[in-house]
Amino acid sequence: MRPTKAIIHLDNLAHNINEIKKKLPRDVAICLAVKAEGYGHGALQSSVTAIRNGVTHLAVASVQEGIELRNAGIIAPIICLSIPNLDEAKTIIENNISPIIADEEFITHLEMIASSLNKKCKVHLKIDTGMARIGCAPLDAPYLAKKIQNSPFLHLEGVATHFAVSDSKRCEDIAFTNRQLALFKETIEKIKSCSIGIPLVHAVASGAIITQNEMFNMVRVGLLAYGYSPLESSFEDDSFENSNYNDNEDNRTSLNLKPVMELLTHVVFIKKIKKGDSVSYGRTWVSEKDTYIATLPIGYADGLPRSLSSKLKVRIGSSFYPIVGRICMDQCMLDIGVEPTVKRWDEVCIFGPSTSEVKNNSAKDVAKIAGTICYEITSNINKRVPRIYEG
Ligand SMILES: *Cc1c(COP(=O)(O)O)cnc(C)c1O
Repeated sequence: MRPTKAIIHLDNLAHNINEIKKKLPRDVAICLAVKAEGYGHGALQSSVTAIRNGVTHLAVASVQEGIELRNAGIIAPIICLSIPNLDEAKTIIENNISPIIADEEFITHLEMIASSLNKKCKVHLKIDTGMARIGCAPLDAPYLAKKIQNSPFLHLEGVATHFAVSDSKRCEDIAFTNRQLALFKETIEKIKSCSIGIPLVHAVASGAIITQNEMFNMVRVGLLAYGYSPLESSFEDDSFENSNYNDNEDNRTSLNLKPVMELLTHVVFIKKIKKGDSVSYGRTWVSEKDTYIATLPIGYADGLPRSLSSKLKVRIGSSFYPIVGRICMDQCMLDIGVEPTVKRWDEVCIFGPSTSEVKNNSAKDVAKIAGTICYEITSNINKRVPRIYEG
């Protein structure tokens, strides 16, 4: 097996889901976002673990992702969060996937295809309350909901919206989310006043689970389940960085999350270089001393961002060593010092769960240095990196 691998701690996924469950009112269902291969953790394995731990719905971003889960035997409801192509309507219905819809053209088309197949299609109406991505105007929602209700081939399974800044505790962001919430609730009331039943009302993702009180009757959660808070680090106290987030203001935020993915590789080669020698493409790093360089078989094509060149430190045992010079497509180099204790074949942790001894070694720490968010770090771990499922 390739030395570079991602250990997927499914026991941590189960733990995180149970942490989330503890914080939610009892009657709130959980829909796990397993799009993009479960944020890189494996959609199928994440789904199976999640369902075993009480998750009732799954969310994907494309019809293809939904089909893959169906083909693997998943029977739980699957919501497709993005707008599909019109020509995907048939596969959506045949695979019992519930699309998010937001306009009349799609409703009419879906109804036509459903009637030609003589099958019913469950749909979720998305309302744009301020994200400006997908969703109908709040004023159009009752009309569209009525149109769905009036069709014998469509079933309105849910009404949804999505928040733009629910992962922030800044005053103006809280105010914006509150405006989105108010508009959504108002729209839900208007739909209900047309005698339209709405089985599922969902708006809340990871951010709002932490920052808001209103959960409606289903949450769509991704990141928290994979072990990270989406809140900007400035809103987290230090204890969160070792997976022990405690916010005294609000009990609901005291989630004890454990990162699920552990990205490992090992040292495949060690060599001595002299003061003045350069390392890697572009000769951007020149050694200021005689030292030893270790080569790792992981590069940007594995999902280790090239922007981390000469910036990230990775962990071997209990010490951190800097990546020096440019990260290549498949390899990168570490400065392991003049009298190295690191040996060839030693295991290297790029990121993973924290322990009482290991800190600042999570995907979130990596993301911070790369100038991105941990969603991007885990979901970009390439499929050539084998996933090893544990727990
Ligand atoms: C990905 C996604 C979610 C889950 O978001 P997290 O921040 O990972 O919890 C929820 N809703 C929609 C529409 C999404 O695209």
